[in-house]
Amino acid sequence: MTTNYDVVIVGAGTAGSMAAAALANKGLKVALLDRQPKAKIGVKICGDATSGEHFKRIQPITKVDPPKSDEVVQKVAGAWLYSPDREIKLELVEKGGTGIIIDRFKLGMRVLEDAIDFGAELYDDSMVKEPIITNDYVTGIKYRGKDKNIREMTGKVVIDASGIIGVLRTKLNPEKTFMDLELAAKDVCNCYREIRDVEPEIESPEFIRLIFDQDVAKGGYIWEFPRGPHSMNAGLGVMRTYQINPHKQFDLFIKQSKALYENSKLIHGGAWRVPLRRPQDNLVWNGIMLIGDSGTQVKPTDGGGIGISVNAAAMASTTIVSALENDNVSMEGLWDYNVQFMRSLAAINAPLAIMKDFIIPMPSSIINEIFHKEVLGADDLLYGNASGNISSGFMVNLLRAWRGKRILGTLLKFRGILKRMDKARTLYENFPADPANYHPWRDKILKIYGEI
Ligand SMILES: Cc1cc2nc3c(=O)[nH]c(=O)nc-3n(C[C@H](O)[C@H](O)[C@H](O)COP(=O)(O)OP(=O)(O)OC[C@H]3O[C@@H](n4cnc5c(N)ncnc54)[C@H](O)[C@@H]3O)c2cc1C
Repeated sequence: MTTNYDVVIVGAGTAGSMAAAALANKGLKVALLDRQPKAKIGVKICGDATSGEHFKRIQPITKVDPPKSDEVVQKVAGAWLYSPDREIKLELVEKGGTGIIIDRFKLGMRVLEDAIDFGAELYDDSMVKEPIITNDYVTGIKYRGKDKNIREMTGKVVIDASGIIGVLRTKLNPEKTFMDLELAAKDVCNCYREIRDVEPEIESPEFIRLIFDQDVAKGGYIWEFPRGPHSMNAGLGVMRTYQINPHKQFDLFIKQSKALYENSKLIHGGAWRVPLRRPQDNLVWNGIMLIGDSGTQVKPTDGGGIGISVNAAAMASTTIVSALENDNVSMEGLWDYNVQFMRSLAAINAPLAIMKDFIIPMPSSIINEIFHKEVLGADDLLYGNASGNISSGFMVNLLRAWRGKRILGTLLKFRGILKRMDKARTLYENFPADPANYHPWRDKILKIYGEI
């Protein structure tokens, strides 16, 4: 039995559910598949930190309300950043900040229910196996249904929203799609996270905590995101290159942090991975699009991907509506999604992947020095991470901090990094509107990211 849809979406995470809602409310026939049973969709190992603004911005397209009432477990006023030795605490306060910690399950369930109310058909407990490719077009998928039988489903457009697994992307021909099949170990962060109820009252729960201890979280950081005065979303990431078990490292952190976690109650724990790199150089091919983690659209410096994924879903949905109206779902017909995403969110986030590669090998001793010598100001961090630009003030502070030391080589390297970031940003801002101009653009990207 084959079932025919306008759009088949694989994965009901934040990206897939939002796309399903946006497309179904436009009257399209949408199938949304997830390998999880419905009751577990929305359970995700995640820090759960985001901003309501990401959702508000796209509400006119998606018709999905931003996180509300009990979907928000904590409003965020700012962040406390700790040096690896915990001696320095840098406080970042974003004026008019819109940060929130969400109940990922409740929000995920509500967006899913909105999509279903708008008419999307959910196939839960359905494991997608591979794309169906006919005459160089993705025309559908093969999946194992609830009854364990292998079935086929066709869609005029298929969306891979299966997260870091990228179940469809990894089965396409990279020479035709210009998408990467595998992610390099240096671009994958292995994480472990727990939600714990704690006995002592958490001081200032409106501040999220980030600890840059490279001896515990090598290449990553430890996070503690309060969910009210007595509950914590805590976890850490270690870069896959180092082949360290994040769960063991997390247990070490808990042992080191007895004051808060002694007698705490584990509510939920688990491991998952987050891609930390630039987005896929191309997010569309004939009949298929990538959104969210399958398109590696996460911010490379902090792993934030919820806001980006729902915005990508909204952009993809507007492109699909036009492509179906024009009866053209070829790569050219779907190209506008590339243009929208690359010129906006990729232009901000992709250059940060260059910075990430520079920062990751830094040992705790250097990071301690950066904190102790006040090389980084709160403004540098807030502005730099939000915009992808590093201010010249940061460079001046860096020079001052290391004056007299023989680290000219490192400083020159850092200047080179900033220049490469600028070049990358300009390239993304000028992503070609015409697919015919894509290859020269990609060659420049590969060069800047050191891949040719
Ligand atoms: C530990 C961790 C902490 C994070 N913390 C934050 C944070 O604090 N803030 C933030 O903004 N972002 C954070 N992120 C990133 C964020 O979770 C994602 O970027 C975002 O939710 C987008 O996810 P997605 O919808 O693309 O994929 P996912 O949420 O991974 O959803 C993919 C869906 O596809 C389904 N699926 C997979 N394979 C198949 C298959 N073969 N067949 C059918 N279904 C399939 C899965 O069951 C899942 O429901 C974190 C990520 C991790 C791993």
